[in-house]
Amino acid sequence: MRPIGILGGTFDPIHFGHLRAAFELNELLDLERVLFVPAADPPHRGKPLADARTRLAMVRAAVEDEPGFLADDRELRRAGPSYTVLTLEELRREHGQRPLVLMLGMDAYLGLPTWHRWTELLDLAHLAIAHRPRAWPPGMGEMGDLLAARRAVAPAELAGAPAGRIFVHPGTQLDISSTDLRDALRAGKDPRYLMPEPVRRMIIATGIYARQGETEG
Ligand code: ATP
Ligand code: MG
Repeated sequence: MRPIGILGGTFDPIHFGHLRAAFELNELLDLERVLFVPAADPPHRGKPLADARTRLAMVRAAVEDEPGFLADDRELRRAGPSYTVLTLEELRREHGQRPLVLMLGMDAYLGLPTWHRWTELLDLAHLAIAHRPRAWPPGMGEMGDLLAARRAVAPAELAGAPAGRIFVHPGTQLDISSTDLRDALRAGKDPRYLMPEPVRRMIIATGIYARQGETEG
């Protein structure tokens, strides 16, 4: 059974770093689909600037022309903090033994020990880690050891089991982040060629990120 990919994030806003990493993993791992799951109430970080519905709308606009990419609104429909482990439990119930692949940037992988019930994530899904500028792969320590113990060399190892392996993809590393985009937008800069055009148009039409200075006082 072809695996289902899951890319969770705050997506405040979504950009080509997210989309290119998902696209390359989709190709390499021959995924059945990729679910983009915006966190309604992301734990471990300040409140997003754009509200959850707006972030979901931007994700929808970003994936509309790629048939294998879908926006998944389950974390907006669920109350409480948007814990990934709960999302994976739901998906596991829906998809039986089909392989699930949770996609993460390297920065997010390194931060996993702060996530709610994080050690259960690998019981529910595989991990596919995209390299990311400014985040170095762990050579040692807890996350390095975990990587060494679980590492899958070939994509087929992920297709052959429902969960439990870690695949690392060096890929095209785009040094784009939502934080840098929010800063640039606040400074009045144009995010062209860093994100899909429909997303850029929504941001310009609504002025969400241009107004951030005012709301911060
Ligand atoms: P912020 O700066 O607000 O944290 P971000 O750009 O890191 O935003 P997130 O929504 O936090 O975006 O990221 C969601 C997921 O996508 C995370 O697993 C993150 O590591 C990954 N990701 C984000 N940008 C990239 C990128 N340029 N390359 C690879 N992975 C990325
Ligand atoms: Mg981030």
